Amino acid sequence: MGILEVKGVNKRFGGLQALGDVNLSVAEQSVHAIIGPNGAGKSTLLNCLVGKLIPDTGSVMFDGQSVLGRSPHQINQMGISRVFQTPEIFGDLTVFENVLIPCFARRDGAFELNAIRSVRSQRDMAEKAEQILMDVNMVDKRHMHAASLSRGDKRRLEMAMCLVQEPRLLLLDEPTAGMARADTNNTIDLLREIKESRDITMAIIEHDMHVVFSLADRITVLAQGTPLVEDTPENIKGHPKVQEAYLGT
Ligand code: ADP
Ligand code: MG
Repeated sequence: MGILEVKGVNKRFGGLQALGDVNLSVAEQSVHAIIGPNGAGKSTLLNCLVGKLIPDTGSVMFDGQSVLGRSPHQINQMGISRVFQTPEIFGDLTVFENVLIPCFARRDGAFELNAIRSVRSQRDMAEKAEQILMDVNMVDKRHMHAASLSRGDKRRLEMAMCLVQEPRLLLLDEPTAGMARADTNNTIDLLREIKESRDITMAIIEHDMHVVFSLADRITVLAQGTPLVEDTPENIKGHPKVQEAYLGT
């Protein structure tokens, strides 16, 4: 049993079958990559995991509990955090303030006012935020406005905002999209460090095969909404079906 178990998930948008009978099992403490051509249904699948979309049929279990019928905030509280395709940060706030925000977020999406008022919890939260900024190598940028960060640093900040919630499952939708090679390599290093230093499982959607092969323990190839094959990176590389359907060779 994986920490995440997706069974028989279907999702239609009008006449379009975006997901058709998707089964996926993500092992605890692994990095599981989901790859596939544009329009394969990768983001739709991720949206079904975080409560942004509800599958038409099928089940999604996280650590033995169904996520279906729960709001995105409730699912977040269960221990699932998501890094978006475009960073969702607060540009007018500093890096440090951005990392503090999720510390005070509550189950219903409002803020824990008593916690904000309590000096002790303010200090605890500030220490926690500081530690996370150290972990992602952004401590020297903590007083900068988030809007003035480079694209790579914005994504790094968003990662910090997820990590401060101490998720058990981190979902990443194309974390290196639009990045220059240097930033991509930094992100690979960061994700490796996160993987090694924490009790965390990651499911990552990624176009860049260099990133996928650098990080993934298992890879699922999605084509036209259906898993084509699931295997180790070594086996995926040489898989004839994958070459044909995805790599186009
Ligand atoms: P991927 O992330 O693999 O590129 P998506 O999951 O975004 O693919 O999309 C899968 C298919 O579903 C695409 O054909 C896309 O146009 C369609 N789709 C995605 N979201 C919606 C939506 N909200 N309404 C209608 N069609 C959608
Ligand atoms: Mg997508």
